[in-house]
Amino acid sequence: MLHRLYPALVMCLLGLLMAACQQFPGPPTPAVVLDIGHTAEYPGARTPGQAGGKRFSEFEFWCENAKYTRQVIEEAGFPCVICNRGDEPDDEQLEELAEQSDVLFLGKNEKPGRRYPSRYFPDRVAAGIISADYAVYRQAPAAIFLHHNSTSSRWRRYGQKSIILANRHNGSPLAQAIADSLNARVLNHGMPNRGQRCKVQTRFYDASRGGGWLNVCDDAGIPAAIIEAAFLNNRKHARYLADPANARRYAEAVGHGVVHYLRSRSGTQHRRANVDEPDEGSFGYARESRRLDVPGARHLL
Ligand SMILES: [Zn+2]
Repeated sequence: MLHRLYPALVMCLLGLLMAACQQFPGPPTPAVVLDIGHTAEYPGARTPGQAGGKRFSEFEFWCENAKYTRQVIEEAGFPCVICNRGDEPDDEQLEELAEQSDVLFLGKNEKPGRRYPSRYFPDRVAAGIISADYAVYRQAPAAIFLHHNSTSSRWRRYGQKSIILANRHNGSPLAQAIADSLNARVLNHGMPNRGQRCKVQTRFYDASRGGGWLNVCDDAGIPAAIIEAAFLNNRKHARYLADPANARRYAEAVGHGVVHYLRSRSGTQHRRANVDEPDEGSFGYARESRRLDVPGARHLL
């Protein structure tokens, strides 16, 4: 009798599989993922005032310029997509810019400040984890999280260090290639940076600091980097980036770094061996995660 149930069972499983696939836009084919940080509603850091005749946020900058990063990557022969974890912008001008960049809005109506578990590694929790999940879905050979930095809501000249953050196991060579490119093409070459170079910082985030999405990339064997090289509350940086030709140059420099990495990468990628077992460094993470009490999160310890 049971064999008569098999076709129904198979159809049922296929249906479930398709439903899982349909939750994300775009085909599940490998592509470099460029993620525009923050959302239209909560656009991240802003310039404290006008710079070069413009006041802008991280989100606005990358909505306008991520297409130049993608262009460099695609012209080198690597498929590339731009995504954002939020909903489409209400603002007409921003909507237009996002459309020109063909941004995939993953908009799942995340509540601000709330953390969510990863669908692939449910013990990992973070705000915006959906972008890392999208990189897993797209089997990304590299995931780049496009941000700018800020130390204050006021203009500041000092205490700012240009960095690219990398996930601990897989991200360093990617982040270094992007830092090298920015150092060679932008920082102190048009964009004043007091002679300081962009550096790489490797991170294994704990749950409470919210970078659990970088760990998801590590778990999945994806090299990931967060671009925090420019400070929006540094007047000279902001003035440089307000100029469209410079903004394009900055975005392209990120793309050249990614291409350099993709062409030269070698060796094996670190991947988490078992989703059901705690990973290295999991103890503090699990304790934090349990305290945060994120609905749907798994506790492995
Ligand atoms: Zn940011």
